[in-house]
Formats: sequence, C-alpha cells, structure tokens
Amino acid sequence: MSDLIDLTITEAREGLENGDFSAQEYTQVHLNEIEAANKALNAFILPTPEKAKEMAKASDERIGKGEAGLLEGIPLGIKDLFCTKDVRTTACSHILDGFEPPYESTVTSNLWNAGGVMLGKLNLDEFAMGSSNETSFYEPCINPWRRTNDDTNLVPGGSSGGSACAVCAHLCAGATATDTGGSIRQPAAFTGTVGLKPTYGRVSRWGTVAFASSLDQAGPITRSVADSALMLQVMAGHDAKDTTCVDVPVPDYSAAMLEKVKGLKIGIPKEYRVEGMGAEIDALWEQGIEWFKDAGATIKEVSLPHTKYALPAYYIVAPAEASSNLARYDGVKYGLRVEGDDILSMYENTRAAGFGAEVKRRILMGTYVLSAGYYDAYYLKAQKVRTRIKQDFDAAFNDVDVLLTPTTPSPAFGVGEKSADPLEMYLNDIFTVTANMAGLPGISVPAGCSASGLPLGLQLIGKAFDEGTLLKAARVIEEAAGALPQPTKWWV
Ligand code: GLN
Repeated sequence: MSDLIDLTITEAREGLENGDFSAQEYTQVHLNEIEAANKALNAFILPTPEKAKEMAKASDERIGKGEAGLLEGIPLGIKDLFCTKDVRTTACSHILDGFEPPYESTVTSNLWNAGGVMLGKLNLDEFAMGSSNETSFYEPCINPWRRTNDDTNLVPGGSSGGSACAVCAHLCAGATATDTGGSIRQPAAFTGTVGLKPTYGRVSRWGTVAFASSLDQAGPITRSVADSALMLQVMAGHDAKDTTCVDVPVPDYSAAMLEKVKGLKIGIPKEYRVEGMGAEIDALWEQGIEWFKDAGATIKEVSLPHTKYALPAYYIVAPAEASSNLARYDGVKYGLRVEGDDILSMYENTRAAGFGAEVKRRILMGTYVLSAGYYDAYYLKAQKVRTRIKQDFDAAFNDVDVLLTPTTPSPAFGVGEKSADPLEMYLNDIFTVTANMAGLPGISVPAGCSASGLPLGLQLIGKAFDEGTLLKAARVIEEAAGALPQPTKWWV
C-alpha cells in the first residue's frame, strides 16, 4: 500500500470515491511516513495522529453516505501559524509555549468542513520571519533535497519550510502555508512543489497568527497545480470575521485552470533581471518564455520601474506592522511568563526570553521606523513606494494578463550558510515581495533543476482576484516541464 503515499490530492479523491482504499488507510500510511521521516526532516513539530484517525473515520462515514466534501479524507499538514482549537499553536516561538487556542482559524475550519484530515502542525520560521526555517524555536526543518554527491543538509526555504518539506517528502498530501513576502513561493521553489499566494483579501486571515497584517495571506503548497486549485477553492471565500477579506464570488478554479491558453499575454518584467542572479536561473526563465510561446501565448517585455525599492520598503513596512502585532505577547493571558519584581519587569523578562534574535531584530527595526523622529523618513516613504509599486503593476496589467519571473535568485542553500548575515537572507525575497506589496496573487511552479541537482521554480504574478488565469498559466509550465526528478529518499 506504500504507493498510496505518492498520490496527488486529485488522484486520491478519485481512489477514495471509487472505494479503492479508505480514508483511514490513506491517513495511516501518512502517519507511518511521518513517524519514519520526521526525526531527520523535522517538518512536523506536533503530529496529531489521534485526531487524524478520528477525522479519517468520520470521512469514511461521510463517503459511505455519499456526503463527501471537496477534500474528503485528504490528510493535510497545517503550518503552526494557524490556530487550531485545543491543539497547541506556537508560531514556532518560545513565547507561545503551551498555547492551545479556544478557537479554530477560518482557513482550517474551511478545510475540515470540506472533509480534510489534520495530520499535525508544521514547522516554520518564528512568527513566519525568515527565509530558511532556521529561526524556528523548534530547530530547523531540513530540505528533502540534497545536491548531487553531497550530503550537506539544505534549508527547505521559509517561512513555510515545514509545509514545503512535508509535501515534498510525501508526509502529507497538501499543506497550508502563509506568505507575507514570499513564504509560500520561495519554499515551494526550494523543494520542487507548487506554492500559491492568493490575492490579499481572497483568503481570511482570521485565526492566523499575524506577522504583517497588510501583507499576510494564506495559501496552499501542493504537488500539482490541480491540487493547488482544489485547496484554494476550499480555503478562499468571504469571512465576516476578517474585514479585509473581500466579498467576491469564488470561481471554480479547477475549471478555470483548464481554459485555453492561446492568446494569453505574458509579461516579462525587465527589472527582474538582477545582478548576481545565477546563469541557470536566467536560462530557466528563457525556457519558460519558450514554453509559453509554444503554448500559443504572446510574450511582451514590460517595465516595473520601482522594483528595486520593493525589498527595502518591505523591510520597513513588514517590521513596522510586526512590532505592533507582537506587542500583545506580554506574558499576561497566555503563552510563556517569566516572573519579575513588578509587572514591568515581568513583561521585559517574558519578552526577552520568549522572542528569538530575528524577531527581536524585526521589533527593533519596526519601532525605529515608526518612532516620532523617523516616521516620515522611513515608514511614510515606504508606504509611498508601495503605492508606486502597485501603480507599476496596474500599468503592466493594461498590456498583459500574467507576469513570468524566476521565483528565487538561487536554489536551496545549506543550513547555516546564510544565517549569519540578515541582509543576504533578505535578498531571497527579491522576486517575491513585490506581489505582497501590491496585494497580487503569485504562484511558484517547479520548472527544472540546477546544475547541482536542486529544484528551481518559475513564478507567475497575476491580476488581483484572477487566480484562475494564474492557475491556467501555471499548468503550461507544469505540462512543459514534464516529470521532473524527485529527491533521493535518504531520510528514512
Ligand atoms: N522572508 C520574508 C521575511 O522574512 C518573508 C516571510 C514571509 O513571507 N512570512 O520577512
């Protein structure tokens, strides 16, 4: 039965519906795989086998009654940034020690209502701040991929490293993730998986631990574009509990994905050809352009002149919002508390012990750029840049339907290779932060391999609320790339 583990969500749904196997069997093979692999990969920081078995049993009952939901019996991993009722939720921070939310996030509620089965909570960078999963309080998650003839442990990317790793290593059929500056797309690129960041406002943020509220957006990581469409279908939709969640109908993404590509206009933003980008990334990008031409799309060079300011502006806006969002962790109502002589020292001791170095750096940067003397020079300026970036995209989308770019400037790097230099780490986000700054949807699709044998992704950025076209274009890459190599299974 071990090949059950290799099914995509789309294939598994068919098998479950036909009665080829039960949801309980399908869940059990995943639980076995997690048990065997997790020590080496550290993708799950909290497996929930009992809950999974219970949910799978209920799924089998619903399938038996002909009441199967869209994700009935599908075992999923949940990034530990989504609050799950009575199940420990930590954001991989020490400060949320032992926190068991008394409520369920909207995204996970939607998944369970559609029949999804929870396998457990996944590793991430602390509070989703990072690009390598190395800032997790629960130790880094390890990429299933290794360079050819080299057993150095590589990072799975971040912050959704656990999600990407678990999907890549077939520890779950699909996973939830979040993307504030690239945290879905970059780990997807580093692990050869499909990562979709929806339009800001497409998916409810309610019950998801906040990092930077004007940028955060949840989406799926999966092993195929069709699976991404399915998961998005369930995750998306209006939610009165999140006022930024927009009340527009959720189209049928699985149908939209199949619409014809001929005549689609693909934009190539010339400013994304950055210095220091590897030659193989450039070659992959060229390859992607050829694939779209072959599929009957037209290619047009476009200009996004403010691209070079996106990363610095992001690293002002995101920490500013984070410093405000993280003010709530004070040791009073939940999570860690380190006592002090008085209430003020209790706050100080708790926050000093509870936050890791990167989170402290973000809080310091954030409070600095928001402080009275620097607000205009930094925060206000960054907001103006953000408007310019949005206007660049608006202008480009007058001429084209979708933009094609690389997802990352390099393939996965080694554990510890970049953690000493925050700036070098931040550069990972150079191609992804723009979509967050403009609120646009983006997807990373596996497209090829580096000379060192590692997966590389291509990114598509779409118009607001046009995830359908994004998925349709993503399928062009998926089909043209064909069967890509899989990692050698060294971890069990
Ligand atoms: N790597 C980026 C950061 O550290 C993005 C993180 C994210 O998207 N959550 O801020």
